[in-house]
Amino acid sequence: MTLDAIADLVALLAFGLAAYFVLRTPNDSPAVGRQVKYTLLAVTSVYVIVSASNLLEHAGVTSFFDVYEDYAEVLWVPLVVWAIYTRIGAEQLVAARRAEDAIRREHELLTRIVETTPTGILVADTNGAVSFANDVAERILGRATPGQLDLGAIVRSGSLPRAREPVGQGEDMRFVAVRSTPLSADPGGPDRAVIVLVDVTDRVRSDDRAEEYRQGLERAIDQRTGELLEANRQLQHASDAKQQFLAKMSHELRTPLNSIIGFTEILLKGLSGPLAEEQVRQLSMVRGSGQNLLELVNDVLDISRLEAGYSPVSIATIDVCARTKALVESMDGIATVNEVELVYACDGAPTIETDPDKLDQVVRNLISNALKFTDPGGRVTVSIASDDDCVAISVSDTGIGIAEEDQERIFEAFQQVDRPDRIRPAGTGLGLVICRELCGALGCGLTISSVPDEGSVFTVTVPRQFPGHLVIL
Ligand code: ADP
Repeated sequence: MTLDAIADLVALLAFGLAAYFVLRTPNDSPAVGRQVKYTLLAVTSVYVIVSASNLLEHAGVTSFFDVYEDYAEVLWVPLVVWAIYTRIGAEQLVAARRAEDAIRREHELLTRIVETTPTGILVADTNGAVSFANDVAERILGRATPGQLDLGAIVRSGSLPRAREPVGQGEDMRFVAVRSTPLSADPGGPDRAVIVLVDVTDRVRSDDRAEEYRQGLERAIDQRTGELLEANRQLQHASDAKQQFLAKMSHELRTPLNSIIGFTEILLKGLSGPLAEEQVRQLSMVRGSGQNLLELVNDVLDISRLEAGYSPVSIATIDVCARTKALVESMDGIATVNEVELVYACDGAPTIETDPDKLDQVVRNLISNALKFTDPGGRVTVSIASDDDCVAISVSDTGIGIAEEDQERIFEAFQQVDRPDRIRPAGTGLGLVICRELCGALGCGLTISSVPDEGSVFTVTVPRQFPGHLVIL
């Protein structure tokens, strides 16, 4: 191949490349345009044909378009350069246009968001000058009266939020929450901030209503507390008066009662002369009624003292077995009169910390009931068992027993169990109430287990150490 033919081949390739670039140039290229593009395409195509013909001629095949040969050889270099340059420039411009479009769409989206949000958004500087405000912000600013929403002060105070700024006056007054976010300042210009305004009128009004309600409630509670304190004071006063009355009355009642019982006993012993059988019978009835009445007076006084808190506990450490044994022995006489065997059993000698007199009162009452409700020939057993924490004192009898449905109510005041087949023994129906009150004061438990016609077991469980926080009521 000759040098000319090689040059032609290179020219052909160069023009072919130029034609390819021009063909690929977008029609909307701002630098080229549709007409220029197709003109260029035509020119480069001509040069392609010319260089092809030259190539054929120099290759010895044939000779066409000789007349264009010189032009083609001179012009192809700048033409190719120009075509490539145009192509690159066009692509850059198209890319810039696309980026610009994307930014514009983004801006439109942001603008729409800012305009449609129910929140007021504005940009202001430290002098209070507003450089941007959406519709909501403009409405809020338009409502503000002089002195309200000082934008310069808001910008100057940095990002300090304000929870409820009043805007407008009278019935139309609304409240906005204000939050400002500082913007980086323009060199030499005043500081600026984005200020967000949120209408919080509904929340503020409901908060105010809740606060009013709370204050009203507090006032009502204060007033009610005062009334209760006054009522309590009056009750305390009444209770004190009742105590004084009971103490006085019981003294006034007990004194003549003791003398009635005492003189009746003197008469019954025949110290004032012999008595007829009928007189003995009737005097015995007087003595029995007098004793019942005395017992009732004592019980009522005990209960009222316990309930009113006038009976403080007095704690001591005692040998519970020794103490209970002495108590049982003191009741032997009644057991003998009732023809009931009174048995006592205790293993060990546990010591406990309690109020001994009050515990005695409970156990004495249980033994007395057991003896009272056990027929002659029966047996009452007082037994003590202990573990590390507690001592259990049980009083069991082989007496008449108590039906299950009555076992709870006998701990209520004046409750006694009536049995049609039996005469009701003397009593006040207050003994077990007193026992339960005393047990509560001592931190003890009091339980019952009973089977009619077989007998009953009452058990007092005493903690070995007095639970100090329990103060008697
Ligand atoms: P009182 O013995 O003065 O009637 P209590 O409160 O001590 O009062 O007893 C209430 C009632 O409980 C008695 O009337 C009796 O019906 C019944 N009760 C108490 N202890 C026994 C017992 N060991 N066996 C059978 N019944 C009993």
